[in-house]
Amino acid sequence: MVKQLGTEVVVIGGGIMGASTALFLRQRGIQVVVLERDLCGSRSSGVNFGGVRRQGRSLAMLPLSQRAHQHWGRLTALIGTEAEYERSGHFKIARSEADMDSLVRYAEKTRDCGLDLQLLDGAALHKRFPIGGAQVVGGSFCPDDGQANPRLLSPAFATAAARAGAQVFEHTPVLEVAHNGQRFVVRTPDMEIRANVVVNAAGAWAGQFAEQCGEPVPMRIRPPAMGVTEPLPFFLHWSLGVEGGSIYCRQVRRGNVVFGGGPGLVLDDTRARNRHTTVWAQLPQLVELLPQLKNAQLIRTWSGNEGALPDHEPIISESSRQAGLYHAFGFAGGGFQLGPGVGDVMAELIAQGRSSTPIDAFRIDRFSDPACST
Ligand SMILES: Cc1cc2nc3c(=O)[nH]c(=O)nc-3n(C[C@H](O)[C@H](O)[C@H](O)COP(=O)(O)OP(=O)(O)OC[C@H]3O[C@@H](n4cnc5c(N)ncnc54)[C@H](O)[C@@H]3O)c2cc1C
Repeated sequence: MVKQLGTEVVVIGGGIMGASTALFLRQRGIQVVVLERDLCGSRSSGVNFGGVRRQGRSLAMLPLSQRAHQHWGRLTALIGTEAEYERSGHFKIARSEADMDSLVRYAEKTRDCGLDLQLLDGAALHKRFPIGGAQVVGGSFCPDDGQANPRLLSPAFATAAARAGAQVFEHTPVLEVAHNGQRFVVRTPDMEIRANVVVNAAGAWAGQFAEQCGEPVPMRIRPPAMGVTEPLPFFLHWSLGVEGGSIYCRQVRRGNVVFGGGPGLVLDDTRARNRHTTVWAQLPQLVELLPQLKNAQLIRTWSGNEGALPDHEPIISESSRQAGLYHAFGFAGGGFQLGPGVGDVMAELIAQGRSSTPIDAFRIDRFSDPACST
């Protein structure tokens, strides 16, 4: 028999976006049900690289990223664990003068955004950190960016939301979202839930719900390719990226070096993995950058599905078609760091009808303009 349930808000998806939205809704005293097809935090939010980085983000995204940064600074109070979060610094490497110029321009553009970027030339860099290879011209250091363990952190958001009073249902796929003229009716295989508000936080799969509600978006699946080495003596304090994005890496305290860069392979609607041609391209770049990895064993590779929009900005928006429907998806490449900021903004939007952080650039109806939808 189909169980009937009533609530104020239904959140579709128990990734970091859905779970943190539920947590911040509960902090505002709002009743919420989270419906997760698999396990909370098991998709993008739990398999990502673990970079907690503001450096390199678009100007439109930085205020939201800063809001998230405040919450990262009080994780234990917020979700009861730090999940290996460290403000270990993020260093972006320039391998040519042109790349260095681009980092200098970024530092100028973002001078008032609170990133405190430090530009280092090759000599200053080698004094502070022995990065290998003469090909490193210099780079840009963001001291308060860092890293965390996504496998621990993302499920902890859902646990914290449940502790705060959210009803969280795992292994519960949403089959359909409809509106009966008064309330939303959200159907799962064995439940029918009536709610005044629905939040579409279904990650790479959110497009189907946007489409069901009459506002399709040009989102495509992107599978970033990841790998990890065996544990090595600890040598790499900073999280490293390269201007242009071809490789990035960090070392966890246990010694394993986690790395990413290049495309993985989408296997089917729910699964992705690294691609052998990508691994062959990643490894020589890594060893060139960090000679310490010369004889390291690779112990695992993986990937995950994330949704990307043509302008590389996410959708964080009330629906343009249906009052009470909100979207938070399309965070390819950077949603892990944004997660707590997005949850706070979504809860604020729902509770107060507006966000105190600028999110206009992330409206869903920007794709109604045919010029933006390619
Ligand atoms: C390999 C990889 C590396 C990355 N590296 C970084 C990084 O270093 N730093 C960074 O900031 N970001 C990174 N990202 C991006 C970041 O992980 C994502 O942007 C973020 O996790 C998105 O969170 P989400 O909640 O929107 O999506 P998800 O975590 O995918 O959550 C969506 C949830 O919705 C559920 N769902 C889908 N359909 C349904 C349905 N019909 N019914 C019920 N539930 C449903 C899914 O099961 C899923 O759990 C990376 C992503 C990947 C894949």
